[in-house]
Amino acid sequence: MADHYETLGVSRDATQAEIKKAYLKLARKLHPDVNPEPEAAEQFKAVTEAYDTLSDPQRRQQYDHGGAGGMGGGGFGFGDIFDAFFGGGAGSRGPRSRAQRGQDALIRLDLTLDEVIFGTHKDVEVGTAERCEVCDGTCCAPGTSPRMCTDCNGAGEVRRQVRSVLGPVVTTAPCEVCQGYGDVIDQPCGDCHGQGRVRARTTIPVDIPAGVDSGMRLHMPGYGEAGPGGGPNGDLYLEIRVREHETFTREGDNLAALVEISMMDAVFGTSTTIPGLDGEIALDIPAGTQPGDLLRIPDRGITHLRSNKRGDLEVTLQVRIPTKLDARQKDLLREFQTLDGAQDPKLSTQKHGLFSRLRGKFGR
Ligand SMILES: [Zn+2]
Ligand SMILES: [Zn+2]
Repeated sequence: MADHYETLGVSRDATQAEIKKAYLKLARKLHPDVNPEPEAAEQFKAVTEAYDTLSDPQRRQQYDHGGAGGMGGGGFGFGDIFDAFFGGGAGSRGPRSRAQRGQDALIRLDLTLDEVIFGTHKDVEVGTAERCEVCDGTCCAPGTSPRMCTDCNGAGEVRRQVRSVLGPVVTTAPCEVCQGYGDVIDQPCGDCHGQGRVRARTTIPVDIPAGVDSGMRLHMPGYGEAGPGGGPNGDLYLEIRVREHETFTREGDNLAALVEISMMDAVFGTSTTIPGLDGEIALDIPAGTQPGDLLRIPDRGITHLRSNKRGDLEVTLQVRIPTKLDARQKDLLREFQTLDGAQDPKLSTQKHGLFSRLRGKFGR
């Protein structure tokens, strides 16, 4: 730190009047309102600090003995103290950038159950902001460039000396002429109106993994809106909604379906196929199938989100009892009834059945 006497250009035994005169002379030359050079602002600060110390007899005496300037020899100037109190710390110094990160975007994506089984590819159309191709995000008309702001000399902020309870202090505030950018764009790009980005609709190819479920969000870094002033893109989030299927129900990675069979197929058993979400599914219905019996077909459910393992398909069998019988059918069944013997209704001790399973599935 320069010597305060040297800064003001006075001798070590200068009187208070001489010190004040020297300060006013320098301040008129260096004050930011009259001198836009950045070095001048620094000098002005140093001069003010020197004056603050030397114009106070007690602090001048301290300074003369300790050599260090300011309060208690800590080398603190008023400007620093003001900054420390009012948040104008060193971190906020300098012009701010026009380039800002773009917004994140959230898109809802409807999927069918078929698409979820193995995953799918979608071209998602989104309304977004893209970097302006005409100015490439610079915000300036082609062939032009920003000019340094003469009000703040490119610093993006202006310093003013104000009186406060602490004495004269230097404050900094964003330059109003350039809004703190430090430069001014006289000819903004006409295509983006000086924003460096334009509204656009674009198609984003998305690979949707198998096993996603409603409410999940896929995170696609860098696929959000382009930032203003050539700033980086935000992120894209795809919120998944899986539509209800007409016949298949999802239970985690398993699929569930209800299959209706005839009474005779339940009695004698049969082999058949049903159309699955991923092709035909063979069903072996054993003889003596009871209503509500469950067939588990392994590995025909949904592919797990984080592995290649698939869930199962659970087929609940419903037995259709014939309701429209002609005379001959009735005769045959009555004959069967006679051979089968008297079958009075009775309470069952068997817990395995449609109702006990439904109770287990949906809670008590
Ligand atoms: Zn542009
Ligand atoms: Zn400015």
